[in-house]
This record gives sequence, C-alpha cells and structure tokens, in this order.
Amino acid sequence: CSWGRVTDDDRLHCTILCESPLSALPEPNQSSSVSLQLFINNEWQDAISKRSFPTINPATGEVICQVAEADKADVDKAVKAAREAFRFGSPWRRMDASDRGLLLSRLADAIERDTAYLAVTLLSLVSWYLLNMECSEYCAGWADKWEGKTIPIDGDFFCYTRHEPIGVCGQIIPWNFPLLMQAWKLGPALATGNTVVMKVAEQTPLTALYVASLIKEVGFPPGVVNILPGMGPSAGSAIASHMDVDKVAFTGSTEVGHLIQQASGSSNLKKVTLELGGKSPNIIMSDANMAEAVEQSHFALFFNQGQCCCAGSRTYVQDTIYDEFMERSVERAKSRVVGDPFNMKTEQGPQVDEEQFKKILGYISSGKREGAKLMCGGGVAADRGYFIQPTIFGDVQDGMTIAREEIFGPVMQILKFKTLEEVVERANDTKYGLAAAVFTKDIDKAHYISSGIRAGTVWINCYNVFGAQAPFGGYKYSGNGRELGEYGLDNYTEVKTVTIKVPQKNS
Ligand code: ADP
Repeated sequence: CSWGRVTDDDRLHCTILCESPLSALPEPNQSSSVSLQLFINNEWQDAISKRSFPTINPATGEVICQVAEADKADVDKAVKAAREAFRFGSPWRRMDASDRGLLLSRLADAIERDTAYLAVTLLSLVSWYLLNMECSEYCAGWADKWEGKTIPIDGDFFCYTRHEPIGVCGQIIPWNFPLLMQAWKLGPALATGNTVVMKVAEQTPLTALYVASLIKEVGFPPGVVNILPGMGPSAGSAIASHMDVDKVAFTGSTEVGHLIQQASGSSNLKKVTLELGGKSPNIIMSDANMAEAVEQSHFALFFNQGQCCCAGSRTYVQDTIYDEFMERSVERAKSRVVGDPFNMKTEQGPQVDEEQFKKILGYISSGKREGAKLMCGGGVAADRGYFIQPTIFGDVQDGMTIAREEIFGPVMQILKFKTLEEVVERANDTKYGLAAAVFTKDIDKAHYISSGIRAGTVWINCYNVFGAQAPFGGYKYSGNGRELGEYGLDNYTEVKTVTIKVPQKNS
C-alpha cells in the first residue's frame, strides 16, 4: 500500500481480516491477552513502585485498562539487562549477523500473523502493520550487509574499518504512530546489533507491549529488547540522563528534544538522534493539477487526524488559483467522514487524548482571534470522545500563531502567495525544517523549490510518501540525524579503525 493512504486494497484486506479472525478476538476493552506489565529481560514484571496508570479509549473517554508505570528504578533495571545482553561474548554479541536478520524477519511475520488483533488494539486500519513489517524486513536484510572498508593508509600497514553497534540504546517514542515508530526505532538498532531500552508513550502503551510478547516468542535473547510504559519526566528523562546508556533516539516535540539533548550533555555525552516537530509548507503553483493538488493537500494535513510531525500545515496557494483551491478544499473537508474508528467508512477518528483535544481547540480560537477567516469546521464533532471537525482557515498571515506553531490536529491553514521567489522565502521563515511539498507541472519550478527549501524531505506532486529505504528527518529545530534507509542504520553504529602492521620482508 502507499504509506498511510487507505486504498481500496487496504479496505478489502482489512475487511477480510476483520470478518474472519476478529470475531474470535477479545473485545478491545478486554485486554486479557496483552500483558500490562513492564517487559524487562524477556520477563513481565510489575513496576518496582507497584504503580500503574490508565489507558484511555479516545473514542469514548473511558478507561480501557491500567498499565504498569516504569520510573527511574525500573529504567536502571532495564539498562542493566540491556548491558548484560550487550556484554562481549553474550549470545546476542556472538550471534551471526544473518541470524539477527532472521529474528527481525520472524518478528515481521509474527506481526503479520496477528495483524487483526493489533488493529483492534490500535483502533486503526491495516496499513500500519504492513508498514511496520516493511520496515522490519528492510532492516533484517541489512543485518549481514553492513560492511566496512579497507583504507590505503601510508606505510606498511593494513587498515580497515568495522561498523560496530553503539551499545545500549535508549529509545523514546510518541503516541501518534505507536506501532510504526516502534518499528522505525527497533529495526535499525537490532539489525546493527545494539540492545534497547524503549519507553513508549503514556497514551499508547498497548500495541508496544503486544509486540514485546512477539519479540520473546520469536527468540530474541533476554535483555536485547526491554519495553517500558511510563511518563516522560520520570522514565523518559531517566533514560536520557542515564550514565550507562550509549545512545538515545527520540521522536516527539521540539521542547522535549531540547531536554533530551541537554540531558545527554550533562550526563555521559551519549549520542543523540532527534526527530522533532514541523510546520511544513505545501506549495500549490497555479499550473498544478487542481483535483490532485486539492486531494493531496487534504491528505497532507488531515491524515491521522492531523497528528503528523510532517503534516502539510502551511498550504501556500498561488493567488490566481486561490479562490478555486479554497472552494474545493472546503468542499472536501466538509465531506470528510468523522466518527467511529471501527467503521470502514470513517476517514477521521478521535484525537489521542483530552490534552491534545483542548490544545487544538485553543489553536482554533487563536486563529479566529488573530483574524484568520474560518472557512469550515472549528468545533467539536461528537458528544463524547475527542473528535474535532475538519477545520480550514483562509486569509492566514505568516505571523499568526496558527501559521507558526505545530497544531497537531485537523486544522488547515491556507495562505496566498504571488511569486516563486517569495514563496520559497516565506516557506523557509520557520524554525522547523522537517518536510515540504510542491504541486506543479513545471519541472524547473519543482527543482527551484526543492533545492531552495531547507527541509529533510521534499515531495513533488505527492505527500506523505514514505519507504523504509528512504531517509527521513529534519533540518533546524526538526531534529538531528535520519531514520530509515542506510542513513538510519548508520546512526546506530560506531566506526572502528583497525590497523595491522604488515612487515614487507621476513626479519
Ligand atoms: P507530545 O507533546 O506530542 O506528547 P512529547 O515530546 O511530550 O510529545 O512526548 C514524546 C515522548 O517523549 C513520549 O514518550 C513522552 O513520554 C516522552 N517525554 C515527555 N517528556 C519527557 C522528558 N522530560 N524526558 C524524556 N522523555 C519525555
């Protein structure tokens, strides 16, 4: 499937899956077969403090279950297990690289086998599992292909490089794509031979815990992967400042990204990769295919309830087509089906939690207050749960809060521009640099914009197209390092130079 785009094939696939095994699965509010404890050293354990916290169903606001809550003491325990699993001579370190790849491949197979169950837990369609599997399979293939070089240094020496794992990797992931973010983090770390302590987002621990059970089932040795549900300021920050964690990989807000970087600086200088926020420009030139541009721009912003770090959240439209683009975009937004995530016709489910829901409504108020024109939506979409109407603002000015801050919700900002040069300058006038897009039939304009924009990804005549092979990450406040592709794996290895004296004659 194309990334995140629910195609007819996906719907069919989902319907088939749902109609057969789903009826045999527990109801989503009966989580008996998902362990709700911490996963440390391949064992399920209560938090040392015995504390737990609720997981809420965002479609109803009701509590689904209580999950064990890790804090610093549990992080210490997990890091110890991960360090032991990383010890030179341990089963994991002795394992052939091809066998590491095989384990990842088996994990992908197990996720595929249990897709319907995971879909229920995540309140989502099948596309995510396919993408999770794609990422694991891709990384599995790299496990035994991570080659060093021979280096022609001066003198009688043989010099070569080895690409070695960094060690114990802390991974802190967000709630917006729980399963996919887990795969993006685990795949490269494990393919290259690291061990992992992962803190999952407090809003979405269930799928990650289920995947933990699959990790054990397919045969990863104890301690290689440890999964901890918990809060950011306690468990997350304990990972970021831990003296025995060699690297931390974080996806989340720019604010917390700063804290992670500072924690590394004031602890053991662990390596840090960050995938942070965005305010991505999506530029529609007057020669674009109008129908495509409207549909793709809609998808660019509203996909996943607008909860995407790379959402096309500043839609710049050339003045000559502005009115028509606006009219068609409003029509499309009004037709967006909001409701029950289990209904196959639904295009938009609830926001993840009450905090995000309130924050988004606050941004809608600020748009109105600062003089943007509310074209559609602007309110709550259901009596219960965290549903928000697909919302569009027109006459948006670059300085308005809704044009500068990440809203992370179904709120589209449409801005008008005249010239190519002007739009590139305005598009770059942001602290972020995660993604951008341009819609045009003119290859020269496409090249001008794609080279002028300071962002890690530029899409041309498309949006949200991802592949496990293609790197993703940000310029500026959008982060450090890349995920996916060869670059993504590179961020999980150290390069070791080995130099051997080679006598030129028998002495
Ligand atoms: P959002 O605002 O979208 O929830 P966050 O950046 O707050 O994004 O959260 C992303 C992840 O970072 C979550 O797993 C969260 O628990 C974690 N987190 C939040 N605060 C901290 C912190 N101070 N230190 C480490 N991790 C944190």
